[in-house]
Amino acid sequence: MWATDKTGSRLRIRVTPAAEQAVRQGHPWVYGDKVREQNRPGDTGELAVIYDRSDRFLALGLYDKESAIRLRVLHTGRPVTVDEAWWHAKLQATLAGRTGVFSPDTTGFRLINGENDGWPALILDQYGDTLVLKIYAALWLPHLKTLEGLIRTHLQPRAIVLRLSRNLINHAMKAWQLEEGFLGEPGEDTVHFQENGLTFEAEVRFGQKTGFFLDQRENRQRVEALAAGHEVLNAFSFSGGFSLYAARGGARSVTDLDISPHALDSAKRNFALNAADAGIAAVRHESQQADAFAWLHDAAAAGGPRFGLVITDPPSLAKREAERAGGVEAYHHLARNALQLLRPGGTLLAASCSAHVSADEFRQAVERAAFQILGRDWQTLWTAGHAPDHPVSFREGEYLKAMAVQRR
Ligand code: SAH
Repeated sequence: MWATDKTGSRLRIRVTPAAEQAVRQGHPWVYGDKVREQNRPGDTGELAVIYDRSDRFLALGLYDKESAIRLRVLHTGRPVTVDEAWWHAKLQATLAGRTGVFSPDTTGFRLINGENDGWPALILDQYGDTLVLKIYAALWLPHLKTLEGLIRTHLQPRAIVLRLSRNLINHAMKAWQLEEGFLGEPGEDTVHFQENGLTFEAEVRFGQKTGFFLDQRENRQRVEALAAGHEVLNAFSFSGGFSLYAARGGARSVTDLDISPHALDSAKRNFALNAADAGIAAVRHESQQADAFAWLHDAAAAGGPRFGLVITDPPSLAKREAERAGGVEAYHHLARNALQLLRPGGTLLAASCSAHVSADEFRQAVERAAFQILGRDWQTLWTAGHAPDHPVSFREGEYLKAMAVQRR
């Protein structure tokens, strides 16, 4: 299946000098308008080799004839033969990078983080003995059987769920008769797993992303350390990840605020799952179903209520480059409203998952809000980026930013 086409010729491409330089430096994408020549038309999912201007092997990747990103790099450096052994070695090397990263009280983590781990447009998340394979580009669709085999060999999961990005769902059905769901033996649509000793549910089949936001794990631990004795507002709470940590950390009350009743219900179940923890059993847990932007705006305008810890972790506010400036302003306004709800000594944890907003832009947007609302009576406690199981190797792969601002 990784073989050449019927004529036996490998797809070979040459790219612009700038694209060549970018690939040499590790960038994983080649756009269609950067391809200068190719020996023949290519098929989506085909292996293609990039040769440099001196006709030397530069990289190999998977070709996508329909996408603006025409080729996604799998390998650079010395030429290799892509056969079954190569794929096994590649997966083994990726998984070795995760060994020992987490203690046994964490059973939910990202095993493969797309391009950043050398597997472009492919995510593999583990929730206990269930794996979720999420595909973001059509070039993997012809190779799902191979992927499934590799994953079973190396990880022996009880179940594997295939999830497809929204733009692939129709194409996968039409071109490959493929749909989302279990590969092989079906498992449970909702599974339980551990994160730092807390039990969470993950809706692996139908939930957002792969069922849970694993990327905030370390920021949730930071919240646990900040929560003791406080009334906590968790805006955009989803299934209550931050809330459970805050409760375990000794928060007096936790309010989940989300537009989705489904998410709020999931948070309630997560609280119930962890009722054996003294902090979680003792905390006053409330749910607010509302548009958090409007709720925070109204609460700030009304001059209350007050919290010792406010978390704002909205969905991406800049999904395209064209939305970047608007996104930065939206983070700024959100921070302004959230900061007005802080008691003296209280902390705002502001997060952004917009790849198009840089860490600097985000920090400036939040700090500008702090100056406007609190004058000089605040400090940035820390800023944070990606979790250890979400490594980043190129600019577009860097999406998560978080920072804590404390009111004096
Ligand atoms: N902090 C969460 C992840 C947040 S994901 C965690 O750690 O797991 C973003 C959440 O924002 C989703 O649950 C979504 O339902 C919610 N959301 C989206 N738009 C919203 C809005 N306008 N108001 C409130 N919640 C919203």
